[in-house]
Amino acid sequence: MEDWAPFYQLITENRSKDIESSLLNYHESLQYISDANGFTLIHSCVIHEKEAILDCLIKHEKSLPDANNALILNWINKPNRDGYTPYHLAITKGNLTMVKYLTLSGADIDIKTPLGLGPVHLAAQGDFADLVAYFAEIGISLMDTDSKQATPLHLAAYMGAYYSSAVLVSLNVPFDSKNRDGHTPLHLAVLSDNARIVRLLLLKGASRSIKDAKGRTPLHISKESGLIDIVDMLKPEGVLAKCGYKPLLSPYKYSVRPFIILCTLLLTVSVLAIVFCSQYHTLACYSFAASAIFVLIMLVIVSNINPGYLFKLKGDKLSRLYQDHNYNEICPDCIILRPPRSRHCHYCERCVSKFDHHCQWVNNCIGSRNLGWFYGFIWSLWISDFLLLYICSHAFVFGSKQGGEIEKLPYFESDFIAGLLGALGLLGIFPISYLVVIQTKNFCINKTTSEQFSKGASKDKTNENKNCWLSNFYLMCCNEGEGSYKHGAKSFSSTNSKASDYQMMFEEST
Ligand SMILES: [Zn+2]
Ligand SMILES: [Zn+2]
Repeated sequence: MEDWAPFYQLITENRSKDIESSLLNYHESLQYISDANGFTLIHSCVIHEKEAILDCLIKHEKSLPDANNALILNWINKPNRDGYTPYHLAITKGNLTMVKYLTLSGADIDIKTPLGLGPVHLAAQGDFADLVAYFAEIGISLMDTDSKQATPLHLAAYMGAYYSSAVLVSLNVPFDSKNRDGHTPLHLAVLSDNARIVRLLLLKGASRSIKDAKGRTPLHISKESGLIDIVDMLKPEGVLAKCGYKPLLSPYKYSVRPFIILCTLLLTVSVLAIVFCSQYHTLACYSFAASAIFVLIMLVIVSNINPGYLFKLKGDKLSRLYQDHNYNEICPDCIILRPPRSRHCHYCERCVSKFDHHCQWVNNCIGSRNLGWFYGFIWSLWISDFLLLYICSHAFVFGSKQGGEIEKLPYFESDFIAGLLGALGLLGIFPISYLVVIQTKNFCINKTTSEQFSKGASKDKTNENKNCWLSNFYLMCCNEGEGSYKHGAKSFSSTNSKASDYQMMFEEST
């Protein structure tokens, strides 16, 4: 074995049998073999992803009569001419199996590349979420900095590596550290025009106001570069977002205030309408009272029912999930494999099956288990609002027939109360009608609000079906809980044998 070129060739061609037979008659060390670029045989195995041959080579070294563990470790950690050890190369290949093998074989996880990149930097910039998760699991720091003071999250944000960014932020790495140029990961996501990572960082609480070394905030940079979508995200959030008609792009602060406001408003309007307007149309008023009570009952049900939260199975490891499944099927926050149509709610910090949206007014997520109830709630609200408008307008008509002399009631004039209630009814009828129309349309085509309005929804064909509108309506409205899960799993199992791996259980309400 004087000329080593054929040996490298055997590795390239994955001829493990030939290598094994060659090594049987060879009793010298392989550690001193390297090519012109400083690649050892281990480098070669890693580059060509030949785990079996690598194992064979290391076993050969350990079987030699004068085997020396320190020298073997030195061989495993030997850098090539560019300063990359086999461990670095295994990471840049995104090969978790090889990385695990080298880790167990004693590879030095602290060696950095000449640019100061550690294992997590390399995995993060290559968007290898499984590797980032694995490094976190074995205790490697996620906050090491390279020669430019960049953390792995800086590199992931700049390289547009969404999945590794998602793992890093789910592990609560600080979002607002600065690199040598004063850039936070948010600055870098904007500089690389990656709206998805900008959204992720904002949802997790990245600061919008930090300035870089040139005094620019992320918003300044997006305006300079003409990135309209990102400018919209970085602007201060408006009334629509705060009222729940547009998704918030900041961490949700739990508050029952919208729910209390809605309950108080419903109760006050109902009592006032009954007290001040019943004299004009008793039947309509009692109908309204009955509908208002029904609305309140529906509200209590929708806000208290488990929307279909998914939960983690014991023993699940994030790196394993990423290794075995598509990255987009995994939720790094919940550490679960998500069934089709489920989504992580950033308000609840949980994944919800058949996620529709999070409703701040009912203080709950809307998902597979309470979609039907929510639909009933908005319909009852709509009917109740129409009855209120009818009562108020009837009060006015009745009053005008009396020549404007409306009977005075204690403290208030009833036309003033009727006018106020009518104005409230009119104000509410537009958003409620919008909700009723949108949800009815969604129910007829078996799509959730999230699926209808997410940017990738139009390209996603997984949920399309050819059922008639009535069947779709049933699936959306009544196929709650386990039923909707069976439906999702059935449609998925036809294309993916891993469907059985789904955590097809719900956490029961307590
Ligand atoms: Zn989740
Ligand atoms: Zn939620």
